[in-house]
Amino acid sequence: MSLLVVGSVAFDAIETPFGKTDKIVGGAASYISLAASYFTQSTNLVAVVGDDFPNEFIQHLNKHGVDTTGLQIKEGEKSFFWSGKYHTDMNSRDTLVTELNVLGDFDPIVPDAYQNCEYLMLGNLTPMVQKTVIERLSKRPRLIVMDTMNFWMEVALDDLKETLKLVDVLTINDEEARQLSGEYSLVKAAAKIQAMGPKYLIIKKGENGALLFHEKEVFFAPALPLEEVFDPTGAGDTFAGGFIGYLAKTGDISFENMKNAIIYGSAMASFCVERFGTERIIDLKQTELDHRIQAFKNLVRFNIGANMANGN
Ligand code: AMP
Repeated sequence: MSLLVVGSVAFDAIETPFGKTDKIVGGAASYISLAASYFTQSTNLVAVVGDDFPNEFIQHLNKHGVDTTGLQIKEGEKSFFWSGKYHTDMNSRDTLVTELNVLGDFDPIVPDAYQNCEYLMLGNLTPMVQKTVIERLSKRPRLIVMDTMNFWMEVALDDLKETLKLVDVLTINDEEARQLSGEYSLVKAAAKIQAMGPKYLIIKKGENGALLFHEKEVFFAPALPLEEVFDPTGAGDTFAGGFIGYLAKTGDISFENMKNAIIYGSAMASFCVERFGTERIIDLKQTELDHRIQAFKNLVRFNIGANMANGN
C-alpha cells in the first residue's frame, strides 16, 4: 500500500493579518507527506532541494516514516522559494515572489525501490513534470491524485490537459474549476472536468468546505468552524495528504470511502491553518485527530427522521 508523493519542498515567507514569517519550510510535498504520515507509514518522496535546505526538516520527515531517498539535494544550488501575502479575509492571497531555483529544471527521478507504488499523489508542479512521473512508473498505480493551480492553466494549458487524461482524482479550488471549465456552475464545471480525464473531482472551497464529484454523484464536506485561523498556506496540500493517506491506509478507493477520506483530509487541514507553516502538523497526537473527527461528526449530525421528512 505504498504511497509516492511528488511535489515542491521549499522555503516560504508568509504574511497574514496575524503576523509575518521569515523563510520557513514549506512546499506542497512537505505538507502532503507530513499529513499522509498520520495514516500510512510507507510514504516515499520524490522532490528536489538545494544545499541550503535544513537537514533537520528532512530528519523530521524520516521520523514520520517518510522515505527521502528520492529527495535530490543539489550542491551549490538554492531551494524553491515562494512568498505570499493574505488579504484580510484570508480566502485570497497575492503571490509576492516565486523563485524556481532547483525546481526550474527538476528531473523527477523515481528510485527503483519506489516502483510498484499503489498510490501516487502529484502535488502542484509543472504539468509536464507530473506527466513524466506517471510515465516513469513501470506499473500504473491503483489511484493517481493530482493537484494543480490557476498558474498552469494560464501558461501550460495544453500540457495540463494532457496530464489530466492520465489521472483519477483532481483537486482544485472553486475559482480554478471555473477557470479550467469556463463554467460558473460548479456542477457544470465538474461534468466538463470529468470529461477531461479525472473520474473524481474534488473542489476545495476554503472555509466553505469541499465537494467531491463522481459521475452524477456529489458529496459535501464542511470545513470545521475554527476559533483561530492563523495561516492557510498548505491547507490544500495537507487536505490532499490526509485524503490519499486515508485511502492508502484503508485500501478502499470506492466513492463511499472517498467521502470518509475527505473528512480526514478536512480534519488535517483544520490543524494546518492554526499555526504558521508546518508547525501544527509536525507533531499531532492521535487523540487530537480523533477529537477533531468527532467534532466533524457532531457538526453535521441531526435527527430529522424519515417520518418528519414526510411532514409527520
Ligand atoms: P497551498 O496553500 O495549498 O496552495 O500550497 C502552498 C505551498 O505551495 C507553499 O508551501 C509553496 O511553497 C508551494 N507552491 C507555491 N507555488 C508553487 C509552484 N508554482 N510550484 C510548486 N509549489 C508551489
